[in-house]
This record gives sequence, structure tokens and C-alpha cells, in this order.
Amino acid sequence: MTDTSPPPERLYLDFDSFFASAEQHFNPVLRSKPVGVIALDSPHTGCIAVSREAKLLGVKNNMPAREARHIIPDMTFVVARPDVYVRLHKRILAVIETVVPIQHVRSIDEVVCALLPSEGRQALALAAQIKTALLDAFSSMLTCSIGLGPTELLAKVAAERHKPNGTLLLNASMLPDALHDLKLGKLPGIGAGMVTRLEAAGVSDFAALWALAPKQARALWGNVEGERFIQELHGTHATRAQTRKRMFGHSRVLPREWRTPDKVEDCARQLLAGAARRLRRTDLRASKLTLSLRSQRLRSTPAKSTEAQRWHWEAHFQPSRDDRSFARALSEGLAQARAQIRFAPHAVSVMLHGLDAEDALTGDLFATMSGDAGERDRWENLSNVMDTLRARFGGKALSLGAHDDVPGGYVGGKIAFGRIPEADDFKGPTGEDTDTHFASF
Ligand SMILES: [Mg+2]
Repeated sequence: MTDTSPPPERLYLDFDSFFASAEQHFNPVLRSKPVGVIALDSPHTGCIAVSREAKLLGVKNNMPAREARHIIPDMTFVVARPDVYVRLHKRILAVIETVVPIQHVRSIDEVVCALLPSEGRQALALAAQIKTALLDAFSSMLTCSIGLGPTELLAKVAAERHKPNGTLLLNASMLPDALHDLKLGKLPGIGAGMVTRLEAAGVSDFAALWALAPKQARALWGNVEGERFIQELHGTHATRAQTRKRMFGHSRVLPREWRTPDKVEDCARQLLAGAARRLRRTDLRASKLTLSLRSQRLRSTPAKSTEAQRWHWEAHFQPSRDDRSFARALSEGLAQARAQIRFAPHAVSVMLHGLDAEDALTGDLFATMSGDAGERDRWENLSNVMDTLRARFGGKALSLGAHDDVPGGYVGGKIAFGRIPEADDFKGPTGEDTDTHFASF
């Protein structure tokens, strides 16, 4: 029987054991060895990635390093180097784009590409071409699994199906048979709680999930996501409103020596500078700044803890993206805080809200007429120049005002779910690719 399915419209690419493979790529000493990447140099911390050699011996992601070493006594542990992985991620994107344009970056090691019908008809050849391009640019360490399908969901499932280094084309016409043995919890977007809910409703295997009507799924999920999930599973793209960025900002819990008014102000200014730099990498402007301070929670009796005291302040201004506009607003807030607050701040948070794209702005007409626009443009240009200089010479190269290290380290440099830090998020000179950080235990 010939498959008359239309050509796949999505290609999903997922790197295998990305952080561990990256370390093996950069340091040949680690190749063909069981390697675990940990976020902190401690045997109690979990492995954020383990190499395929470690997986074959039974070590899983998130397993504590101590437990992994119990299974594999000679396992090597290295401390994660986010700045190096982000740089590698960018080089990888550039290589993939020599073959096919990327539609969305889904995480530091996952991307999805939309295929034209002509590309879809030779999708398997295209996947092979991407793998060859990656091999030529990097090494055989950095393998990926590629899934092809009518929708992003099916392409992603296909990529996960043949790991490591697999390629799989999954058409809706092959379903539900091709996935009959797939555990529901292995599907993207179905967590443990959802599995329980599905099972309670008598949906305990893939065939039963496949048979759900969109309306039933909507009821089971409790929202429209269920309907979208079933649509995507059956090969129809589900449309969703783009999730728009709502704010840029940072919060810090202050160590004891940072709870003086001067230090609080210094910290707030640095948090603002980090948020403003992130904002300027988008085409957005902010029209609102919030400053929040809170005290430590007070425990009066073991049974009852008193709520922390909070102080909140916000300023509204013309949509802006330059350091001076933001710093002016923050200075006003900090002056108010000095005058009003009767507690020692324990945590500080600075956020930029009211985000709007440049081309969506209409309310700036008055500023344009009054001649403010020219001045604003000059401050924006200055802010851009300063961003460039910081990127080149390190975050401490220059700033508006005094500069101490902010408590908690890098402002915005952690790899969080849903946000890949930019190389600029890492202050100061960063490590060499080959400078592996071996754990000390
Ligand atoms: Mg991966």
C-alpha cells in the first residue's frame, strides 16, 4: 500500500544529551566516556545532562551525582558552562540555517523548521543534509534526532522516538499504530497529573488518546489546549495566539550587608540595567517601571508567621528603551522609598512593563511634536553604544553610576526554561570552549 499522505510540513530537531555532548565535543578526553553535567560542584546536585555512555549504563538525567557514581564508579562529572553552551547554540543555529530556515527556537537544543511542499517531498534527504552540515561544522559528538511530520507535535514525537541520532517521518496516516506502545506521559505536554486525569477517564494508552474527540479532550484538559493537542496529533496545525512578552525584570534577595539604603539603590540600578539591555534586544519599548521592596518574613510564634511587609511603586512614561528614561523613573522611585519605607528591605525587584512594539506605537505623537523625539533618539543611540561596549569589554566596562557585584551573581545569565540567555547576559570575559570545569569530588 502506498502512502498518499501530503509531504511533512514540520521538521523538529533535538540534540542528544546536549550539554554532555557539548562537553565531549570540546574536550576529547571525555569522548566515549560516561559523563554527567552538573549545575553546581557538589555530589548532592542532580545531573542536568548525562552522556549516552552513561545512559546505556543506567544513569538518567536529573539523577543526583552521588547516585550516578554509585552506578558508574568511574563516571566523570563536569560543571555546566552556560556561556559556552549558548555560544555553541548560536553557531549551531547558523549551520542549520545553511540548509533550511528555522521557524522557532524551542530551547537551547531544540528547533522547529517549517517546510515548503518542495522541501517536504524530500524531507528525509533534507534531514540527512542537516546532519552532514553539523558533522562538518562540529564533530561526531554533537548528534541530533530529527522528526518529520505534518505538525510540530508529531514531528517532535518522531524526533523523540528514535534517539540518539535518529530520523523518523511520522504521518497521521500511520497513526495510531505507529505509536501504539508510546506511554502517554512521554508525549510533550502530558505531565504526570494529566496522565492521572486521562487514566481516570479510561484513556490509558495511545489508541484511546487518539480516539478522543476534540471536545472530549477539551473537557479532560479543562481548557482549549486539549482540543489543540488532539488536532495536532491528527495532523492539523492548531493555531494559538502568540504569547507576548509581558515584562522584563529581575528580583534579588539581598544578603545582610546589602540591606542598607545605598546598597539597595545600587542593586536596583543594576537590576534595571540588566532588564533594559534585554529589552533592547527586542523591538519593544516599555512605558511602565515598577519597584518593589519587601522585608523578611517575621516569625512571631512557630505556629504563626507574620506576612512580610511590602512596598510597591510604579511610574508611567512615554514608551522608551533608553537607559536615561528608565534611570530617571527609578531614581524617583528610590527617593520615594527612602522617604516612606520603615523596614529593612530583604528583597528588591525592578520590572519594565507596558511593552509595545516600535511599529505599534501611536501615542508618541505629542512627544514628536514637542521635539522630545530627537533627544530620545540620541539617548537610545547612546544606550545601544553602551550595550555594544559592555558586550565587547565585559559588563563592568561602563555603567551609569557606581558598580558593585550584584548579589546572586550574573544578572540574567541563568538558563531558565523558556528563555535562552544571550551571550551578552554573561558579564565580563567568559571561559574558553575547551576550558572544561571538572567537578572536585
Ligand atoms: Mg535534547
